[in-house]
Amino acid sequence: MKLMEYQGKDLFRRVGIPTPSGVFATTPGEVKSFIEGHPGSWVLKSQVLMGGRGKAGGIKFADDAAQGETLARELIGKVLKSVQNPEGEEVRSLLVEEKVAIASEAYVSIAIDRGAKKPVVLVTAQGGMDVEEVAEHDPDAIKKYWIDPAAGYSPFVGRLLAFHAKLPEGYRKAFPAILGALYTLFMDYGANLVEINPLVLTKDGRVIASDAKVDLDDNGLYKHPDIAAWNKAQPTDEDQAAAVAIGLGMSNYAKFADEPGAVPKTIGTIANGAGLGMGTMDAVKSAGGGAANFLDIGGGAQAELVKNSYKLVTADPRVKAMFINIFGGITRGDQVALGIVEALKGNDVRKVPLVIRLTGTNADEGRKILAEAGFFPVETMDEGAAKAVALASGSK
Ligand code: GDP
Ligand code: MN
Repeated sequence: MKLMEYQGKDLFRRVGIPTPSGVFATTPGEVKSFIEGHPGSWVLKSQVLMGGRGKAGGIKFADDAAQGETLARELIGKVLKSVQNPEGEEVRSLLVEEKVAIASEAYVSIAIDRGAKKPVVLVTAQGGMDVEEVAEHDPDAIKKYWIDPAAGYSPFVGRLLAFHAKLPEGYRKAFPAILGALYTLFMDYGANLVEINPLVLTKDGRVIASDAKVDLDDNGLYKHPDIAAWNKAQPTDEDQAAAVAIGLGMSNYAKFADEPGAVPKTIGTIANGAGLGMGTMDAVKSAGGGAANFLDIGGGAQAELVKNSYKLVTADPRVKAMFINIFGGITRGDQVALGIVEALKGNDVRKVPLVIRLTGTNADEGRKILAEAGFFPVETMDEGAAKAVALASGSK
């Protein structure tokens, strides 16, 4: 899970890495009133996951509230593009930070070296916006150190690296503690990468993390539920929001617009697993129909989720028949069947002809529940698709 700069800096503060003072904002009005209350020079930093924001025009400087508001209006909604990300990423929020007078910009990162099976620290005095070019043209300027996780971090590592990388004198006292804190963050939060670029030496002699790039290993996120929740907060369209609202992931549901000249999209689909979901849409297409949506209920779905997924798909008025295609592994057939029966009991759902293919774990129990409720599942995916298409067009 990649973190935005403001989230990375939240973790920096938890471990004691100094960051500029600042505030997170999502509207020009918030920026204006913040600067009104805190007169001075501020940096407006676009919060996107892509790097190279400075070069892409995503970092601006404001000297008063009116200028802050104008610049915020320019930035929010803007699509930032870079060489690494030609499609671009839309800016939805800003970090407003104390503008510091920079004396020097260094670079420090810790990443996993899979070959060495150890975290590797990279340090260079030539930080700032062009560190990739330093790596290409002056690789010797980047100093590396592999930390043995059994021995852990010692301040001498920081002193050694600061010396070898020729960090200016002003960094030397603070650097070992900052690197130690970065290592603590790296280990305690299960990071793939932590990077400070630039680690700034200010003209008044402070060493602070001006930028933050943090990538956490998803497999360790369960240890930090507060951070895992950051990820789920920002759906970018209606379908994603609808999926998140019922407890699905953002990319587990998508609705497809009708296309001129193509078969009308009248078949609702629900499957477990993205692959089976796509296969289900293909089967509908081969049977001469059009899938109105993709919906992957994921592994281990419970009855409640199945019920809410059914409601979500049938809320689309174009849907004239529903094809539910479940291959039970972790997902249990009885839970799926209970969800369907529950969904159809309520008066708040639109009922459409329903075709169900259910195989795998607890499929027999599931079929029994469905049969008792008056539904008869089909055996194969192609049979199910053909039946759904026939039902949608009115013939049986
Ligand atoms: P990135 O381009 O996405 O890596 O964004 P950064 O946060 O690294 O900012 C890019 C550049 O903007 C930095 O390398 C600095 O040169 C400049 N910058 C950012 N914050 C400040 C600041 O407080 N004062 C000054 N003078 N420059 C800043
Ligand atoms: Mn940077």
